Amino acid sequence: MYRLPIKDWKRPLAWKQLVPSCSHTGCPIGTSWTGVLHRATGFWLNEREWLCSPRCLEASLEERLNGHFYASPSPEPMRTTMPMGLMLLARGVISDAQLRDALDMKRVSGDRIGSCLQRLGCVSFEDIASVVATQWGCPVFPVESVQPGCSLFVPLSLLERYRMLPVHLVSQGRRLFIAFCDKIDHSALISIEQMLGCETEACVIPEPKLLQELEYRKRDTTGEVTVRRPDTSGETARVIRSYAQQTGSSAIRLCVVDGNVWARFFSRRSHLDLVFEVAST
Ligand SMILES: [Zn+2]
Repeated sequence: MYRLPIKDWKRPLAWKQLVPSCSHTGCPIGTSWTGVLHRATGFWLNEREWLCSPRCLEASLEERLNGHFYASPSPEPMRTTMPMGLMLLARGVISDAQLRDALDMKRVSGDRIGSCLQRLGCVSFEDIASVVATQWGCPVFPVESVQPGCSLFVPLSLLERYRMLPVHLVSQGRRLFIAFCDKIDHSALISIEQMLGCETEACVIPEPKLLQELEYRKRDTTGEVTVRRPDTSGETARVIRSYAQQTGSSAIRLCVVDGNVWARFFSRRSHLDLVFEVAST
């Protein structure tokens, strides 16, 4: 079973040994010795901040989420690689006529060029995976080496949204391979690193394998809850606070990926993932 690395922390001096100071700037308790009384009710947030009470937790979460809720969306990165159709043409996998047919189909259906070519019977899923891997400069992952159970590290809703799959854990749990089938999402990778405290490595697998594994994954979604994201950061912070209290959690990890909020609550016995999803456009 994969275990998260234990964080070292510096031992503070004198009475501060008994209680860390609250990270919320507007905290009514602050760093005074009465903080000792709040020790039992506090929360660690992302392992760095200690919040002395549910109220400070909620206020701190709201502040943290503000930037993500009201920021303008970042523009799509510019394409820097050769389009898939041209790459398959250059490799001699498809002909001019086949590319033209696929482009016509893409115009009508709005689907990706890869899936149009695949439906026309011009290419295999392995051909597509190979091109995606070249476009993104990462390896094609051998499907027979997918580790069962790896997919449980990330909530299903995020796996489906980013069409990704954790496939292999190496270096004693410090590096996790994440497979995609049509494009690599780096912001999703960064949030997985923050949440699991490990490094990630992007790779590509053919689409049918990814879909098959996600189908299996649907059989076990215990310990994860996905809800629509509330409109305000205040409301979202309130829900997180309430889950933290209900689950008796003493530590929470939080990250935001494209406005989707992923919170993980650690209680004595287990952990719970809560995902707030932004409605798809
Ligand atoms: Zn406080």
